[in-house]
Amino acid sequence: MSNRPIYLDCHATTPMDERVLEAMLPYFTEHFGNPSSMSHVYGWEAEAALKQARQKLADAIGATPEEIIFTSGATEANNLALKGVAEAYFSQGRHIITVETEHKAILDPCRYLQTLGFEVTFLSVQPDGLIDLAQLEQAIRPDTILVSVMAANNEIGVLQSLGEIGAICRQQQVLFHTDAAQGIGKILLDVEEMKIDLMSLTAHKIYGPKGIGALYMRRRNPRVRVAPQIQGGGQERGIRSGTLPIPQIVGFAKAVELALEELKSESQRLLQLRDYLWHALCKLENIHLNGHPTQRLPGNLNISVEGVDGSALLLGLQSTAAVSSGSACSSGNVAPSHVLLALGQSEMLAYASVRFGIGRFNSTAEIEQVAQHTISAIESLRQSQAAVSKSANLKVR
Ligand SMILES: *Cc1c(COP(=O)(O)O)cnc(C)c1O
Repeated sequence: MSNRPIYLDCHATTPMDERVLEAMLPYFTEHFGNPSSMSHVYGWEAEAALKQARQKLADAIGATPEEIIFTSGATEANNLALKGVAEAYFSQGRHIITVETEHKAILDPCRYLQTLGFEVTFLSVQPDGLIDLAQLEQAIRPDTILVSVMAANNEIGVLQSLGEIGAICRQQQVLFHTDAAQGIGKILLDVEEMKIDLMSLTAHKIYGPKGIGALYMRRRNPRVRVAPQIQGGGQERGIRSGTLPIPQIVGFAKAVELALEELKSESQRLLQLRDYLWHALCKLENIHLNGHPTQRLPGNLNISVEGVDGSALLLGLQSTAAVSSGSACSSGNVAPSHVLLALGQSEMLAYASVRFGIGRFNSTAEIEQVAQHTISAIESLRQSQAAVSKSANLKVR
């Protein structure tokens, strides 16, 4: 374990906190019941744990327990929100608004809805990654049924202005959904204050288990309806059938509780580590910070390194740090990140990007080590690059 690279990919997933594991364990073995079993104590125990977890999650976002629908994660919650609202409201309109920099779990369902006859506006973003609120307002039409804008971007960490977006949507009487997979437990989210109508959550980005998440659905002013996308035993009031995974749900609630307890101090600590890393790296020339400099997740640093290929840099860092580059590998093809391209970046710079995701278990010493190694990796790549172009020039002559 000790000679594995330092984990700095916390936007992809996080290790589970031991305290979360401890909370979950009894629900795998002793208290294994199905909360739908109402005739015996095994079911009652599971039901009690479920009720408590649901209450904790509701409290964490300013909601009521009935407004929490458990899902397998944020991907499923996003699908339920988008397809569910589209199916429930299509007689009122078939226009949806989202943003170019959203996660694939928003973009792909939106593209699917387009094939069914829905019209989708993909808002562009400003060079800092934020949407233009005036542009959003102009995009809303009488047939718009839903606006979906993410809370925090998974690549560049940029935090959209949820409160202002919520106010616009409420005023225009359009439902507002936010994918808060990267937001929950890292920034304060209040569905009342921010006028959020639907919100997707997940546990595994905040030291909880994988395979569990939730969709928050507003019950009053307005009461949101969604068409179920998974049918069966009628769990979650028929909105999402399937036996509820109590261990995961207990772990999810514990993870959120811990993250909120430690939010203030942890944000400050992560911010210090992130700024240390940035200040160390930007001493080199031609390094660009991607995304808004301050309106971003404290643990996120996304940079483009001019003249250096991102995958070469990743390779150079491989034994030191587990990070990810701004190019996603899908079906064998490496393509530059759609998020960085949406910021107006050239393909060249998008390919030259690296994302550091600093988290709960990273120490100052680790970040110092990563800073040092990254600097020397960039320097040596630039030197060999310079040597290559020099010899190429000689040959041309
Ligand atoms: C991780 C992530 C998702 C997907 O969440 P899962 O729980 O893994 O399905 C969706 N949106 C964003 C912004 C994410 O970061």
